Amino acid sequence: DWSGWNEEGQQAVCFFCDASFDQSDKVYEHMTMAHDFDFVQMRQEMQMSFYQQVKMINYIRRQVHLRNKEGERTADEVATIIIDNLRTSTKWNQPQYYFPTYENDSLLCQLEDKDGLFEPEDTFVIGEDGIDCRAIINHSVLTDLVVGGYFDS
Ligand SMILES: [Zn+2]
Repeated sequence: DWSGWNEEGQQAVCFFCDASFDQSDKVYEHMTMAHDFDFVQMRQEMQMSFYQQVKMINYIRRQVHLRNKEGERTADEVATIIIDNLRTSTKWNQPQYYFPTYENDSLLCQLEDKDGLFEPEDTFVIGEDGIDCRAIINHSVLTDLVVGGYFDS
């Protein structure tokens, strides 16, 4: 049970820098101001499902991680490149991005707050109790699906 999310003092971390906040809304606000990236507007425009949001976030975090490791670009340049790529859904709408880049990514749990906004497209991983955040964080269910070749078609 993770209903006491905020009381545990977990922080939601910005996609592009080290800034962290106690609410996902504040992260989105920060990214709009600091990085010119409005995630809330983008997911509205693109009518993104819960799992598409998960995949986009994991894609962004992976790309930021990889490009920062190269060390050839500034954080702003990295952000610009990645944001450009987001409009092409084939770049991030891939099964491997179900898996979190960072363990216990609080922002993924916070997506639960917006549950029901959009139609989930990946109904096979949604149980009767709705979306289980822990299943995504621990990626045990999805690991089985990938290992079992569910996504290979
Ligand atoms: Zn930031």
